[in-house]
Amino acid sequence: MENKEADLSFSPSFRKKGQGRSLPIPPPEKNSESRWRRRFLPTLLFAFALASSARADRPPLIRIGLRASAPSVVLGAGAYFLTGSVPRREVKYRQPQEILPAKTGFFVGKERWGNKITIEPADPEGVVTVNKRPFRGAIELDRRGAGIRVVNRLSVEDYVRGVLLMETSDQWPVEALKAQSVISRTYALRNRGRHGSSGYDFCPSPHCQTYAGASAERKTTDAAVKRTRGEVLVDRKKKLISAVYHSCCGGSTESAENVWEHGGQPYLKVVRCGWCRSSPRFHWMARVPYALVDQRLASAGYHIGAVRAIGILSHTPSGRVYQVRIFGERGTRDLLANTFRNIVNPALIRSTLWAGVSKLDGAWQIHGSGWGHGVGLCQWGMKTLADNSMTYGQILRIYYHRVEVVDWTE
Ligand SMILES: [Zn+2]
Ligand SMILES: [Zn+2]
Repeated sequence: MENKEADLSFSPSFRKKGQGRSLPIPPPEKNSESRWRRRFLPTLLFAFALASSARADRPPLIRIGLRASAPSVVLGAGAYFLTGSVPRREVKYRQPQEILPAKTGFFVGKERWGNKITIEPADPEGVVTVNKRPFRGAIELDRRGAGIRVVNRLSVEDYVRGVLLMETSDQWPVEALKAQSVISRTYALRNRGRHGSSGYDFCPSPHCQTYAGASAERKTTDAAVKRTRGEVLVDRKKKLISAVYHSCCGGSTESAENVWEHGGQPYLKVVRCGWCRSSPRFHWMARVPYALVDQRLASAGYHIGAVRAIGILSHTPSGRVYQVRIFGERGTRDLLANTFRNIVNPALIRSTLWAGVSKLDGAWQIHGSGWGHGVGLCQWGMKTLADNSMTYGQILRIYYHRVEVVDWTE
């Protein structure tokens, strides 16, 4: 995940983890009200518990935009329910079906479908196969422009199952996978609507969280999601936190306000992390061709000509570069180092924790440490802590200040 945080906050109804299940012992009875309580309260509490578990069994739905405008879609063989602009019915396809855009609606073989179709697996535990890839929940097809918009609507629990392998490894210790489940779920619930203008919540790329559908499900990652079902992180005001994370901090995480203009969350503060040295990207060297820097700056609206020098103006308390000064042939611009990194290529310039910048053979050479923006949880640190018998709750409270894990209901 490379988070540019969307600042959407939701006010949850919440139950603190481990509370709400045990009740204080009532004082000795003194009046009829107490007797009433003694007789009926257990029944009421039982009914309440049933209602809560029913809610917990229906996790929130989210929508992932798989394709904005595909020229065609191949629906795999299988049994599906169709709803939307077609007669609601069950279909069984022995062969894959190619779905093509018509002037309005779609062609499916010789059949014509309307503009909006929802395809669900006939077996609720099953999948819908689209372009040879299986997805849980439903697939929504919409006619958009010249093509087809493909959206996967599914429960947040199934979404996290499709994220975990992509954002960590199924070989990682179980407490690390549980911690990642809680933060991926929290991130998803808090940032719903991040791609609202495109008609869905998240893209499946690292811009949001990398999601690959049911083909990414593994035994260990599924077990971690199941064992933390419904659990999220909330702050002191009981609001879902901005659960940002990164691959490797390089020795110290960063306060959000030193990376993003909208930072300042009290739970996103510097944490000295001596646990991520095992990351293969703890140290790195980037060769960034001059032409790439010049082109990317120009296309981001910084028309300063060929770059002659890159100066470091200031550092953050954790040692990251805060501001850089770019000297171009036609002007000089000051930029946040994180902005510069995102404009040029965040996969090449892996972090803003730079040891130095130099020029060599037509390229800028940058030496640095860590991978990612450095805010929130450091995933390689999380792995080491889990390897050393820490629980997921302990790990989360190391990287996010004064938060708690609660069961989420809405
Ligand atoms: Zn996105
Ligand atoms: Zn770290």
